[in-house]
Amino acid sequence: MPELPEVEITRRSFASRITGARIEQVRLGKPLRWPLGVEPGQLQGAQVLDVRRRGKYLLLDLTLPGAREGLLLMHLGMSGSLQFASRLGEPGKHDHFDLVTSQGALRLHDPRRFGAVVFAQGQDDPVAKKLLSTLGPEPWDGAGVLFDARLFHAALKKRSAAIKQVLLQGQAVVGVGNIYASEALFLAGIAPTCKAQKISFVRVQKLRDAIGQVLGQAISQGGSTLRDFRSADGQDGHFQESAQVYGREGQPCFVCGGQIRKITQGQRSTWFCPSCQRR
Ligand SMILES: [Zn+2]
Repeated sequence: MPELPEVEITRRSFASRITGARIEQVRLGKPLRWPLGVEPGQLQGAQVLDVRRRGKYLLLDLTLPGAREGLLLMHLGMSGSLQFASRLGEPGKHDHFDLVTSQGALRLHDPRRFGAVVFAQGQDDPVAKKLLSTLGPEPWDGAGVLFDARLFHAALKKRSAAIKQVLLQGQAVVGVGNIYASEALFLAGIAPTCKAQKISFVRVQKLRDAIGQVLGQAISQGGSTLRDFRSADGQDGHFQESAQVYGREGQPCFVCGGQIRKITQGQRSTWFCPSCQRR
């Protein structure tokens, strides 16, 4: 499943190339998770102003003919990937959205069709608010500054569930998917079963820094190896090579030599080192 780092890598791979482009044609394939919400023809002539990211949504800011504001929210779902090329061939059976512009064409390839492309009349449109308003803070602000540890601590104080599950819920901070939650908790020395509300501020600060480190590493590794845009799918595998605990049950911990363990929390696997991570 594409996680925040893969979505950010995807964004960086085409944002500057599509910015300023005029939309010439929109082609829809089979239905995605949600309908587009606008007649494709109405997007013709719109200009792409910017490509932003919020959580795992890519946001294409548009100016529609008549200077009206528009926003395309794109989500890669479970199996989606985007390709941007100067020219696209005939769509395959899993290609369900093409945005043909004056600067190249963007195509969503999504075999499982849990992805979506949704139109809204700007970010204040209820359509956009419904999708974006439940998301927690971003790991970094626009200037690259990590999210606030005090707000993070306050958010965790309200949660009695295990920290691993609270991270996955994405309300204390977005983007910490299964692999990154296990890795960040290991780096911070916090047991995944620890109750979120019991973690001291000092340890919350460590966890905040660890989340920044793990997500930043995933983005830079993907960014340095990713040439073919579509290979964003393989990005997880590359990150796993440098994983400290993820997928390593029964193997020795790189820090203490003890055995890495695997447990199940909320139907998701968690990997951790029982001696390096404490409650
Ligand atoms: Zn250890």
